[in-house]
Amino acid sequence: MNFNSHTDVVVAVAVALVNTLTAGESRGRPYAPPSGEERTDAVSRAVAPGASRSYEVSAEQADELAGVAEALRTVFESVAAGDIDAAAHHTNRLLAETDARPHLDRHDGEPWHVHFHGRGGTLAGDWAASCATGLAVVLGSELYDRLGVCTAPHCDRVYVDTSRNGTRRFCSTPCQNRVKTAAFRARQA
Ligand SMILES: [Zn+2]
Repeated sequence: MNFNSHTDVVVAVAVALVNTLTAGESRGRPYAPPSGEERTDAVSRAVAPGASRSYEVSAEQADELAGVAEALRTVFESVAAGDIDAAAHHTNRLLAETDARPHLDRHDGEPWHVHFHGRGGTLAGDWAASCATGLAVVLGSELYDRLGVCTAPHCDRVYVDTSRNGTRRFCSTPCQNRVKTAAFRARQA
C-alpha cells in the first residue's frame, strides 16, 4: 500500500503507539504497557520508525501519547467491527482535539512534503496530530478498511494491512502461526 510515503510512516507510528501503550492481550498473553523508563524508551522507538533519528521522550509526553493511543485504538476497533461511520467520527474528533495543522516542510535533502503540527509545538502534540491525520487519509481513501485488530484468540493488537489483496487478519506472524497450528490440531483430533 502506498497512500504516500509520509502517510505510510505515520500510520505505522499509530499502530506502534496503540500496540505499545494500550493494555489488553498480545499474541495469546495478557498485555500491560511498560512503565517508567521502559515506557519512555518504547515510545521513543515507536515514533522513530526506521530509526533514522531518535527522539528524547519525556514522561509527560509518554502520558499524553498514551491517551492518544487509546483514542487511536477506538478507530481501529471501529473499522474492524465494520463501523466505518464511527471510525470517521472518532477520527474527526481526534483531528479537532489534536488541532492538526498541515505544514509544508523540507529537511534531510527531501523534497517539500506535508507534515502535521499539533497543539503546543511538542513532540507528543505533533505526533498525535500526525497519527490522527494519517488515519483520516486512510479512511478517506478506497483502502479505508485496511485498519484492523488481530483476529487470533487472546490478541487485540492492531495492524494496517499493506498487502496487495488486503487479506491480512493477524497482527503478526506468531499469531498467524498460532491459528494455523490450532486448526491443524483440530483436524488431527
Ligand atoms: Zn495477534
